Amino acid sequence: MRSCQIVEWGKPLEMHEYPNPEPQGTEVLVKVTACGVCHTDVHVWHGYFDLGDGERATIESRGVELPFTMGHEVIGEAVALGPDATGVSVGDKRIVFPWIGCGECRACQDDREVDCVSPNPLGTRRHGGYSDHIVVPDARYLVEYGDVSETLACTYACSGLTVYSAIKKVTPLNDDDTLLIIGAGGVGLNAMNVAPALTGAKIVVADIDPWKRQAALNAGAVHAVDNSTATAVEEVKELSGGGARAAIDFVGSPETAQFGFDSLCRGGMQVVVGLYGGKFAFPVPFLPLQHRMLRGSYVGSLEELKELMALVMAGKITPLPVTTRPLEEATSVLEDLQQGGKIVGRVVLRP
Ligand SMILES: [Zn+2]
Ligand SMILES: [Zn+2]
Repeated sequence: MRSCQIVEWGKPLEMHEYPNPEPQGTEVLVKVTACGVCHTDVHVWHGYFDLGDGERATIESRGVELPFTMGHEVIGEAVALGPDATGVSVGDKRIVFPWIGCGECRACQDDREVDCVSPNPLGTRRHGGYSDHIVVPDARYLVEYGDVSETLACTYACSGLTVYSAIKKVTPLNDDDTLLIIGAGGVGLNAMNVAPALTGAKIVVADIDPWKRQAALNAGAVHAVDNSTATAVEEVKELSGGGARAAIDFVGSPETAQFGFDSLCRGGMQVVVGLYGGKFAFPVPFLPLQHRMLRGSYVGSLEELKELMALVMAGKITPLPVTTRPLEEATSVLEDLQQGGKIVGRVVLRP
């Protein structure tokens, strides 16, 4: 198999050739037909997440060794099954659910794999889909996608699922409530496509880039505000009649977290999804006195991916714009994502 790998953190990826792995036990070998490039991959590529004040969480500290194959929005065809693999046949085409737990801890035993204390996701901890083949530990992580195009369907494994799970956390909302979406890049823009299937709330988008604000308005946002201006919080309060009932921060920087928190109404909930990094401060009494909630959401569960795909297959979710590039161009796609502004929607690699 041919894999496009990190050989040195932050340096151009390299194509490496290996013999095709033999699936063991319950494993399934999947021939990859498409793999989306996620902003998380930019962090993994550089080898760390920024925790603020110069602190870093390194990828190496999670036990990842180089060379490493990224890619967690994977789709493909089962081509070989381990002796104990059940629930899938050779030739079946499936989305790969990448957010795999250890299977041992209390959360995993409890069916909360997403809260696993020692997760083993494909593409961030074990080899992912920047390759023409991937080993999936169990057929239960393979999800059907019907007649949906494979370059679109793969994006639901992270971009779509992340949005779906974050919106589910803030629902139910009333139709006259405001849902503030911060950041209209690949994942945030997808919120405009997924939200109407879950809530009738009015969507206000905030982004510092006029191009992305326009893309969000085109995708169904009712208003778009420039959160780099000093009046942005006031604008949201005015547009929402007193503050947003929910804010989902798809950037996760100190500025966006602060902006989202300040834009909430009494009883409002902020969900931080983006991993830009840094720290932010807020008046602690606002939590009790204003009944505000602050929580995080990282991707979503296997059950949620199945729920989401049922909505997608029923035609309830507007497709995200997708462009395809050859696997060999992975490095330049990562560079484009890192610079921001260049990409609207998702870039999907084709091996
Ligand atoms: Zn992702
Ligand atoms: Zn676990």
